[in-house]
Amino acid sequence: MGLKFHNTLTRAVEEFAPLTPPHVGLYCCGPTVYDFGHIGNFRTFVFSDLVRRYLEFRGFSVNHVMNITDVEDKIIRRVHETGLSLAEFTGQYTDAFLADLASLHCLPPHHLPRATGHIDGMIQLISRLMERGIAYRAADGSVYFSIDRYRKSERWPGCACHYGQLVNLNLDDQRQTERVASDEYDKDNVADFALWKARVPEDGAVSWPSPWGDGRPGWHIECSAMSMALLGDSFDLHLGGEDLAFPHHEDEIAQSEGSGGLHGDIAGKARPFVKYWLHGAHLLVEGRKMSKSLGNFYTVRDLVGRGFSGREIRSLLLSAHYRETFNFTLAGLDGSRTALARIDECVGKLRERAAGTTAAPAPGLLQAFTDAMDDDLNISRGWATVFDWVREQNRALAANELDATRAAAELAAWERVDHVLGLGAKATDEAPAEIVALAEARVAAKKAKDFAKSDALRAEIKAQGWIVEDTPKGPKLKRA
Ligand code: AMP
Ligand code: ZN
Repeated sequence: MGLKFHNTLTRAVEEFAPLTPPHVGLYCCGPTVYDFGHIGNFRTFVFSDLVRRYLEFRGFSVNHVMNITDVEDKIIRRVHETGLSLAEFTGQYTDAFLADLASLHCLPPHHLPRATGHIDGMIQLISRLMERGIAYRAADGSVYFSIDRYRKSERWPGCACHYGQLVNLNLDDQRQTERVASDEYDKDNVADFALWKARVPEDGAVSWPSPWGDGRPGWHIECSAMSMALLGDSFDLHLGGEDLAFPHHEDEIAQSEGSGGLHGDIAGKARPFVKYWLHGAHLLVEGRKMSKSLGNFYTVRDLVGRGFSGREIRSLLLSAHYRETFNFTLAGLDGSRTALARIDECVGKLRERAAGTTAAPAPGLLQAFTDAMDDDLNISRGWATVFDWVREQNRALAANELDATRAAAELAAWERVDHVLGLGAKATDEAPAEIVALAEARVAAKKAKDFAKSDALRAEIKAQGWIVEDTPKGPKLKRA
């Protein structure tokens, strides 16, 4: 049995066969950096981190790309309101996003292209679509993608010219052929979407020169250009939240296949733009859609502020299958804390028993975990294998059945599984209770002006691998 994924393109669970094994190109639509990301966004990013980590666990060599959308309508509005430059405004939220990603133990993607760094590629793609007659310049100076002309373009090599691949649209039923009179659009057809948006005064300094006049790219063309620039015109995996399947991903396919690719390499079904499309289901909070007015809107930093760690948030975001809507609750976070403590305790005891011995990973946990995850990343079954293993190790430890070598082999297996789950060790700044007690005794000694005792306690703490730092907010413990 091999690894299988549900492919939105075929609506089926399929054997995963990358275009050029063992290499895998993986693109995940990244954040639009106009504010702090919320935990719904991070469910999708943690899911893409899981896909990457599991592929690596299965021996693939992954090139993981996640874009940063740093020019788009909402951003421009906020730049206008704040009076900051585009780079200053998006820079602060990009930094915050990367810090949040790291706090959730997501491996940094190999490439984090920013849309503003790929304007040339976008112009190149739009030019090809214009040459092929699939795009047109409207009276307002903007350039649109014509869905009608795309669907009549089979003569172009590699162009499937099928709009509605991901969502099974039947355009013949709902065709709008009349020109739509609207103040907002100058499009031939309502379904047509902007590739290049002509500059308007509110755009301020946010514009670039192009063959069609000053302006900025549409959101969809950004992802086509960045993904093909870094992964080639045809690549294996494209991920995002389920709301992106239509129109964002449908439009990406149309632009990429309609243009023949950034390098002219797309060759129809044999080399499509993307072979497997994976979509993560949405996150609900306390049973409802997350919204500021309902008071259930959380960023990662809100939850950290409430005392939860990144690994607790991560493990809750990873507790349900990626294609199932998941209900996030604060009680669920408490549950994650308890579950992680059980794992930590068991792993701690195995580490004590192994006492530095090393061994090859034991097969049991690895096999059970692989069987679960190969089945379209069945993480609920994956967690069940982990807790069955914890129960069995606790039993074996209590029955004194594990010698150092066996304990080391189980630990080695856990470490491989944990490399997929990404829990890692408990944060190093959380000192164990006995060290905290020593630090408190030292504070008491200092208060009593017993400096000899406080120095001795500091030395004792140091000997146990910790350093006390006196800060204006009181003493802080750090690993030595
Ligand atoms: P954005 O920053 O709005 O472009 O969104 C970034 C990613 O988060 C996209 O892949 C969205 O599909 C995803 N996303 C947005 N809201 C949610 C949610 N409530 N649950 C899961 N993913 C979401
Ligand atoms: Zn995208």
